[in-house]
Amino acid sequence: MRAAVVGGGPAGLMTALLLIRRGVAREVVVWERDREENAGFGVILPPEADALLRRAAPHLADEFAEHVVRWETTTVERDGDSWTTSATPDLAAIARATLNRLLWQECVAAGVIVRERVAPRLHALATSYDLVVCADGAGSLADQAGFDVSLNQVGPRYAWLGLDHAVDGLTFLTRPVAGGVFMAHAYPFASSASTFLLEGPRAIDPEDIRALFGLRVSTGTGDDTYQWRTFRERVVRPWSLGNIVLVGDAAHTTHYSIGHGTYLAFADAEALVDALAGANTVGANTVGASTAGGNTLAAALRDYEDTRRPAVESAQDLGRASAAWFTQAVDELDRPLSRFAASLLTRGGRLLRDHEP
Ligand SMILES: Cc1cc2nc3c(=O)[nH]c(=O)nc-3n(C[C@H](O)[C@H](O)[C@H](O)COP(=O)(O)OP(=O)(O)OC[C@H]3O[C@@H](n4cnc5c(N)ncnc54)[C@H](O)[C@@H]3O)c2cc1C
Repeated sequence: MRAAVVGGGPAGLMTALLLIRRGVAREVVVWERDREENAGFGVILPPEADALLRRAAPHLADEFAEHVVRWETTTVERDGDSWTTSATPDLAAIARATLNRLLWQECVAAGVIVRERVAPRLHALATSYDLVVCADGAGSLADQAGFDVSLNQVGPRYAWLGLDHAVDGLTFLTRPVAGGVFMAHAYPFASSASTFLLEGPRAIDPEDIRALFGLRVSTGTGDDTYQWRTFRERVVRPWSLGNIVLVGDAAHTTHYSIGHGTYLAFADAEALVDALAGANTVGANTVGASTAGGNTLAAALRDYEDTRRPAVESAQDLGRASAAWFTQAVDELDRPLSRFAASLLTRGGRLLRDHEP
């Protein structure tokens, strides 16, 4: 089989790597339009990510282990008072840029062909390749290709920012203001860098953030990256049409406050390649052969969706519940700090891993 992968983020690179390493495709081409844009701050990985990386390529898991930061405490701070627990989920964080670089290097070493430019149009890829994997994120080309896409606004407005020092563990900072509350989720992802995800009732500029939190935030690679956004949960049906299949954020997004988007992208990649390997699509070496084996490919793509959709929907439920907590955080402010912290840390019935199959 020859496979085209649109997008070189976590979903696309993991899919490409597994397709080649497991011998499911003899040729895999990845198009990535902007490796720089891929940068940004750190992302959280749950423990399941390490096991998945180990199955994909043990030395890759070892390389990740050298770069991830773990923590032993979770702190909830509110207007100068703080509450800390060591009963903290076993999470790790890594710079998005490092994560993508390690995967990119692994793909190149494994023989994946990488093209640093915008991908050709989907229908051109679909006629020249046996399989087209849309791993192009939340603004996927699939949106113009007949998939049923719905976008639901969830949670407060947010800005994805950074700090130039490592905060002490996972830290939630709470600042009530007139008309609402600003809350920051901060966690270290390198020895001198932290993610600082700020939510609030309105956009404020970095100087106001400094006044409110006493912290100088970094906005990314330039001022134009400083944007307040609204998170949109993305639901797509189905995840495949013909020989085009969606993985990662192209197929679904889950509110960032549960920190699972990257892991879900990896898990999609693994399930897709498992389904293709199991359906014996490996022998489909040309576009013609794939058409002859079309039922096999269609069945594999259905299997992939059947396997993954329940776990994704469960994560989306949890993401929605978590986002709702932050939207209504102002209603929790009258509670004593320890009760406020307990409510925050158990929002939506955490932890996600309890919901995974
Ligand atoms: C504020 C925020 C915080 C988050 N925090 C976390 C977290 O802590 N933990 C976590 O796991 N997840 C987190 N996520 C989610 C996570 O970033 C995504 O779920 C994850 O990156 C999805 O990977 P992906 O490969 O599907 O998509 P992306 O990472 O979006 O990658 C898609 C790639 O496709 C490329 N591309 C798009 N179109 C084309 C084209 N036409 N041609 C060529 N290339 C193209 C893009 O340049 C991009 O590199 C967060 C998200 C947000 C918004």
